[in-house]
Amino acid sequence: MTRLLLLLILFPVFGFSQHNDHFKCATDEMHQQIYLTHPELIPGVLRAYEQLKQETNQFINSSTRSQDTYIIPVVFHVIHNYGPENISDAQIRDGVHYANLQLRKLNPDTTDIVAAFEGIAADAGIELRLAQLDPDGNCTSGITRHVSSLTYIGDHQVKSIVQWPPDKYLNVYVCNQAAGLAGHALLPHAADTIPQWDGIVMQHAYVGTIGTSDFFRRTVLTHEIGHYLNLQHIWGGNNVPNYFYLPVANAGNCDYDDEVADTPNTIGWQSCNLSGISCGDLDNVQNYMDYAYCARMFTVGQRDRMHACLNSSVAGRNNLWSPTNLIATGTDDVTFYLCGAKFDADKRVVCAGESITLTDVSYHGITERTWNIPGATLSSTTDSLITVTFPQAGSYTISLTVGNGTDQLSVTEENYIVVLPQQGIQNFVIEDFESPSNFDYQWIVYPQEGAINWELGNPGKIHPNL
Ligand SMILES: [Zn+2]
Repeated sequence: MTRLLLLLILFPVFGFSQHNDHFKCATDEMHQQIYLTHPELIPGVLRAYEQLKQETNQFINSSTRSQDTYIIPVVFHVIHNYGPENISDAQIRDGVHYANLQLRKLNPDTTDIVAAFEGIAADAGIELRLAQLDPDGNCTSGITRHVSSLTYIGDHQVKSIVQWPPDKYLNVYVCNQAAGLAGHALLPHAADTIPQWDGIVMQHAYVGTIGTSDFFRRTVLTHEIGHYLNLQHIWGGNNVPNYFYLPVANAGNCDYDDEVADTPNTIGWQSCNLSGISCGDLDNVQNYMDYAYCARMFTVGQRDRMHACLNSSVAGRNNLWSPTNLIATGTDDVTFYLCGAKFDADKRVVCAGESITLTDVSYHGITERTWNIPGATLSSTTDSLITVTFPQAGSYTISLTVGNGTDQLSVTEENYIVVLPQQGIQNFVIEDFESPSNFDYQWIVYPQEGAINWELGNPGKIHPNL
């Protein structure tokens, strides 16, 4: 008994020495929850599942299927309560960038794919593009922000806050929590029955490689897109009614399949054991749909299954990439709508002599830009990402002008960066709020856009006891 207990305690520590994180996708759990709480939905889900299964078989056996790249318009909805989950535009763009690298097999770490799987590692032929036009035809950055305490739950409820038509946009929700795990997605057969829940929910710290995320977590969004396009976990499907929920690494998973012919049968891995054999053959531990956190590839079979989904009417996936929809969402690669000048800063309060990073997140089709920050030293006045050093204490105004070769837009943020004296401020702060000049540059009102706010006034009087 003692030995067993010791093993249980030690395994989580030594089973994943590369990083403390565990890749946990909530897709299976969320589907099980739907079927338990809404059994009336099961007939519709089963019908869509059978339709998509039949269409997938037809597509895979068709010799005329297209190998073109499918463009998917995407919108990110940041559901936040002014906390760290309110991630920057730059972090979201970084997430889209890394997902596209992986979907197009352009990630440099594909050179690490083990020899046995090099031949079936596929360019998935899918590209995400942030929408330039919203459902009303108005210009958009492809990012919306909404204040809600539902961010702390991150289940399907968040989709009731906002959802753009799911047959026109992939809706990605960024929350403080994603039902307790890294992310989850609704598979197309469920999304067809419950379109108001279609979309991907991401815990904010798993979007991209910068900001609240890190490089290690860059594959989670790619994994969820796999689900969104009908891929199951590589150890087998359990997102269909009446299937049992199968946890990763359960020996019984050898009895189940992911309905993809070229992925070896496996029980699934949470550690990056590249020589792992769990069901008789070498496992594809580096697959994006496993949990091993060293993912580098989709297989040819998985690509075909995703393309089949994109050619099916189930959940309207075949409308996403249609020429008409790409024009309607501004993702047709022909027209760039210059409609927003905007930048992000990694820090807004520094000490004299320190640096910050500014990122141009203006939209769209920017071909020229000029930064202007009086009193500061800039690494470049025209690059999209610059380092800025502030030699002296004070508050600094930042201006950015961007253009697309024809038109120009500008944005100016007054007193945007606060630079404190080099020695900083003493550990304890005494502030009488009597000096507007000190207040303006030593204090920042947060949240600045909140319903409840602060402003400097002069209506009070000195308390008699002071
Ligand atoms: Zn998953």
